[in-house]
Amino acid sequence: MGSNGSDEPREDYPIARGRSLTLFSEDLLYALSRCIGCGNCNTFCQVFFLVDQREKLSPRAWIRTSSMVGLGQVKVSVEYIESLYACTQCSLCRNSCPVGLDPFALIMSSRKELIDQGYVPPIEVAALPEEVVEGSPLLPGPHWERNKWLPRDMPRSGRYLFISGAWARSAPDSAVASIELARRRLDLFVADREPECGLILRLAGYLDQYRELTGEMLALIEDLSPVGVVSGCPARAESLRELGVNALHPVDLLVEESPSARRKKPKVALIPDPLARSTSKAAEELLQSVLGPEFLGSLPRFSASCGHLITFRSNPDIVRSLFLTALKEAEYMGASEAVFLNPLAFALAREILRGERVRVKISELSQTLLKVLS
Ligand code: SF4
Ligand code: SF4
Repeated sequence: MGSNGSDEPREDYPIARGRSLTLFSEDLLYALSRCIGCGNCNTFCQVFFLVDQREKLSPRAWIRTSSMVGLGQVKVSVEYIESLYACTQCSLCRNSCPVGLDPFALIMSSRKELIDQGYVPPIEVAALPEEVVEGSPLLPGPHWERNKWLPRDMPRSGRYLFISGAWARSAPDSAVASIELARRRLDLFVADREPECGLILRLAGYLDQYRELTGEMLALIEDLSPVGVVSGCPARAESLRELGVNALHPVDLLVEESPSARRKKPKVALIPDPLARSTSKAAEELLQSVLGPEFLGSLPRFSASCGHLITFRSNPDIVRSLFLTALKEAEYMGASEAVFLNPLAFALAREILRGERVRVKISELSQTLLKVLS
């Protein structure tokens, strides 16, 4: 899949060629122009389906407006940029298009090309690159630096390097749970210091900064030469795997064992991670093995990752509303617990739903597994 979000071979793009007023690259304009406006992607979109159901916030609307903006037919407005960041990058629309477009990729590319042209994302999103590089808190609520939550007996050398991320400062309980699950099976260690994870910057459109941070991460791994890397974030583990690193999430370690619960089993609905599709599938298999019929499956129209933090920073009401609707769906399924696979999405949900009256408890997968398997 190219950055233009299409599997189609590139043809001459007749409209933009030779025009200096176009804002976006020809590749992106060409892909945007191929949208036939059928709206099939809208029916998959969590923002459209769960929050809006009007044409204002939907992949079809974002593609149509991006096409006009990219061609210079309408001016870039604050409303357009804000609306583009309402997409949570949940990727549910990826395989929905009859002409083979990938709305998820087109929206991400539009964000990137706007930034390349000097347009600034919503202020709280624009603050992300500096905050990520400096290791500042990314989420609302209390924070714990690594030396406050890392188990004191955690070795500084070993065979498998454990990496955490910004989420661990907001959900240290999830970080400790994923370490506990992994180190019962592997010789785990941590580096004295690790670079921040830049995945969130890629989603926000800051591709160069993402590449820089990923380069630092790869350099650290090469320097320490572990047998493998374990990450408590499935999206980070899968993105490192794509780069050739032997990277694992605790789910990958447990799924082979087919364990079963030792404690009272909660009725669980899983909230998958759209950036970690194979781990999401493995998590379903694992929960089926651990919980049996008490595992009710994944939520059908909702998945969550660090993309939700980007949308929260630009459109907080949308994310709050999405989380509340998702929990209602979990309740409707009969769940007592909605379990997030992505720890940053869990930390965000826990913080913004604090004080809300919800019937379904929220948890994160490593914590749930540690509890029912111990
Ligand atoms: S990535 Fe998710 S939120 Fe964004 S347009 Fe697609 S379905 Fe909608
Ligand atoms: S499904 Fe494809 S062609 Fe239809 S509106 Fe969405 S992007 Fe356009």
